[in-house]
Amino acid sequence: MKLLTRTFPHGVHPKEHKDTAPLPIERMPFTDRYVLPLAQHIGAPSKGIVKVGQHVERGEKIAEPGGFVSVALHSPVTGTVRSLDPKRHPNGSLVPAIEIEIDRYAGQETPRGTPADPQAGSIDDFVARIQQMGLVGLGGAAFPAHVKYRIPDGAVVKELLVNGCECEPYLTCDHRVMLENAEDVVRGSVVLRDRIGAHLATIGVERNKLDAVAALQEAAKGDDRVRVVPLEVKYPQGAEKMLVKAVLGVEVPAGKLPLEVGVLVNNVSTVACLADIFDRGTPLVERVVTVAGPAVRRPSNLIVPIGTPVRAVLEYCGGLTGDAREIVMGGPMMGQPLGSIDVPVIKGTSGLLAFTESKLARPAEYHCLKCGRCVEACPVFLNPSRLARLAKVGKYEDMERFQVMDCMECGSCSYACPSNIPIVQLIRVSKSWVRERQRDAKIAQAKEAAEQAAKPAADGPGDASAKDGKETNR
Ligand code: SF4
Ligand code: SF4
Repeated sequence: MKLLTRTFPHGVHPKEHKDTAPLPIERMPFTDRYVLPLAQHIGAPSKGIVKVGQHVERGEKIAEPGGFVSVALHSPVTGTVRSLDPKRHPNGSLVPAIEIEIDRYAGQETPRGTPADPQAGSIDDFVARIQQMGLVGLGGAAFPAHVKYRIPDGAVVKELLVNGCECEPYLTCDHRVMLENAEDVVRGSVVLRDRIGAHLATIGVERNKLDAVAALQEAAKGDDRVRVVPLEVKYPQGAEKMLVKAVLGVEVPAGKLPLEVGVLVNNVSTVACLADIFDRGTPLVERVVTVAGPAVRRPSNLIVPIGTPVRAVLEYCGGLTGDAREIVMGGPMMGQPLGSIDVPVIKGTSGLLAFTESKLARPAEYHCLKCGRCVEACPVFLNPSRLARLAKVGKYEDMERFQVMDCMECGSCSYACPSNIPIVQLIRVSKSWVRERQRDAKIAQAKEAAEQAAKPAADGPGDASAKDGKETNR
C-alpha cells in the first residue's frame, strides 16, 4: 500500500503531560493478596478451575476460557486460593473472582514454560496457544487477541499495523515498552505478520517518541518487511481507524473493521507479549502500568502483577497528595474514574492517574456558540453539537438517524468546546438508550420469528397427522 499521509483529518491536541516518559520501567514488589476477576476482557468471562485452599504456582492456569471470545487466566503469584466470592470490579460491579494470598517464602520467579515455534502447526494451533496464554489487547480495550488473529476464511490481510501511538495524555507505558523491549516488539510483529500472511508490518509511533522510533528501527535492521513510521502527535490517533488513515491513507468504512481494507491493527505491548508466549512460554501474568497525575507523589512506570490492588500500587508510589479527588484507570480522555481504590489492576489497565480538585473542577456550561469547533475535532465526521442538542431534549431516534452509534466516545468534541458542553457524556447516555432499543427490537424480532416458525408446524404435517389420528380414531 502507498504511504499518503502521516496523520488523520480532524482530532485535537490535548496537553501531553508525559512527564513519566523518561522513567524506566521498575518491578513493583509483591503484595499480600491478589484479586483476579473472571471477567477482565470483552466476551465471555473465564471459568474458574481452582478450589479454596488450593496451592497455585505463579503462571499456573486458574481459569479456562469461557468460550471462543474469552481467554484463560493465570495466577500472578505463587500462593493459596483464599476465596471465590464475588469482588468489586474496576467498573463498579460485583463479579466472580479468585482471591489469592501470596506465599511469602516463594521465589516468585517469572514463569517459564515450553517455548514453541509460532510458525509450526496450523493457524488454529497458533490461536489456541494465545487463547490459553490469556492474551488480550493491552491498549485498554482488552479484546481477546486470538479472536483478532483468527482471520475469517476468505479475508486477506495485506498489512499488519502495530499501534505505538499512545496518544492519551499522561500514559507512557507503551513508550517505555518500545524503548526497553524493542526486540520483543519487533519479534512479535514479525511472528504475527508471518502467521497471518501479511506482506508488511508497520509500526506507527507518534513523533513525541523519537527515541522509541530509533530503538525499533535498530531492532528491525535487516528485515525490510518491518518499517517504523513516525506520525504527527494528535489525539485520537491510537484509535484503529484513525491509525489506518494516518499511516496508509485508507478510509475504513463506517461500521466495518480494518480487516475490510486488508489491515490488522494490534497494540505494541500486545505484540511484545507474543515473544513471551512463544519464545519463553510465559503467560500474561503482569503488565506495565503508568502511575501519574498531579496527585501522585512518585509517578512511575511499573511492572504490576494482574490482580494487584490499586491501593497497593498507589502506596508503592508514595501515596496521594492531600488534595487528591479522583483516580482514573486508563487515560484521562477515555479512561474510567474509579469508585474505590480497593479494586484490582486488570489486564486492560494501562494507567492509574490521580487528579486533584482543581484539575477536576468542571467549568460553567454556556450556550452553544455554533462555532463548529466540535465538528472540526470529530475524527469520524459527526456533528457533535447537533447530537448534543438532540440528546438534551431526548430525541434519541433522531440521533440514531444522524449516526450517533458511529461515535467512538473519544471526547475530542468536549475537549474542543469553548462553552464546556459535556457533549460526549450526553452522547454516551443516548447511545445506551439506542443500544437498549436495538436489543429490544432484536428480541421482538426473534419472538416473532419463533411464532412464525411454530405456525406452519401447527397447520402442516403435525396437523395432518392429527387429522390422520382423528380419522383413525373414527
Ligand atoms: S462525536 Fe464522538 S467520535 Fe466525534 S469527537 Fe465527539 S466523542 Fe469523538
Ligand atoms: S464546540 Fe461547543 S459551542 Fe462550538 S458548536 Fe460545538 S457545541 Fe457549540
